[in-house]
Amino acid sequence: MEHTSVIKRENQQTKSHLPSIYSLTFEQLKNWIIEQGEKPFRATQIYEWLYQKRVTHFSEMTNLPKALREKLSGHFDITTLKTLVKQTSKDGTMKFLFELHDGYSIETVLMRHNYGNSICVTTQVGCRIGCTFCASTLGGLKRHLEAGEIVAQVVKVQKELDEQNERISSIVVMGIGEPFDNYDELIKFLKIVNHAKGLNIGARHITVSTSGIIPKIYQFADEGMQVNFAISLHAPTTELRTKLMPINKAYPLPKLMDAVRYYIEKTGRRVTFEYGLFGGVNDQLEHAEQLAELIKGLKCHVNLIPVNYVPERNYVRTPREQIFAFERALKKHGINVTIRREQGHDIDAACGQLRAKERKEETR
Ligand code: SF4
Repeated sequence: MEHTSVIKRENQQTKSHLPSIYSLTFEQLKNWIIEQGEKPFRATQIYEWLYQKRVTHFSEMTNLPKALREKLSGHFDITTLKTLVKQTSKDGTMKFLFELHDGYSIETVLMRHNYGNSICVTTQVGCRIGCTFCASTLGGLKRHLEAGEIVAQVVKVQKELDEQNERISSIVVMGIGEPFDNYDELIKFLKIVNHAKGLNIGARHITVSTSGIIPKIYQFADEGMQVNFAISLHAPTTELRTKLMPINKAYPLPKLMDAVRYYIEKTGRRVTFEYGLFGGVNDQLEHAEQLAELIKGLKCHVNLIPVNYVPERNYVRTPREQIFAFERALKKHGINVTIRREQGHDIDAACGQLRAKERKEETR
């Protein structure tokens, strides 16, 4: 059985690839502008063209001198991403399959909430973490995304929303890949989308989620960023977590909890624990009790995720009543808990599903 979920269009020529302008933080762009002998305010103008007017050619940046526009196009690429598939769910969720310059493809999801539009971005092509419930890891890691390729997902989807006069109001870094495995590009991405002269998405409207790469949690705590932070926990004991998430062997649960405590102390911010419910595996009341004990006294919130059925894996869905019983058990201990609303059920919205399906169709 073939288990890779990564598509690479085999016959595609790898195009010559200039660095993406979307990979530059505002400071980096300003430094480049100064190096070119131009005035620093040009960086503000370029950021406005990129992120507020969202042009797709340097020639459209009409308030820049022609020589600068030519220099820009000689040094940088401004193309966003090629849309291979766009699916819209009955509930408004949109799922995109984008092609990268080298033929790999990535998924991005736009979710509609009553409080705004939220985009879920991908940070890697594939993933090497190996969570046993995840289709995205089946083919391993192909490559990291550059910051500009993560930014481009937001710009591309925002351009779709421009047609409806709507705006992306929040970002979740929870798509395919482990963000902390691509740490430097992640930090650049966060700075770019958060910048006041750019997309200006407030830090408190951005959430980063990790499977638990402990050294990076300490580093992230020290960055001083005000973004929301989530841990994919999924199990309340070392033994069970290792079964679900092999990363727990390298970064065991007690040490992960030490890192979480450091994060909370250092930032003063609340942590969200993502807990996927897998029928008969981690969804019993004893697990709720163990979870309550594990996170007792922490400034935290638990997000229960009724997991979609992934055809390649054997986990079954937790029955509805059991989900509510699990929630009640946590609430009894005074734990702040919510159940994630399911979106895009009719469009393969679980991570990796669209890409896996596309690939199957390609190889038929
Ligand atoms: S759940 Fe996330 S971290 Fe785990 S294998 Fe899938 S993409 Fe990687």
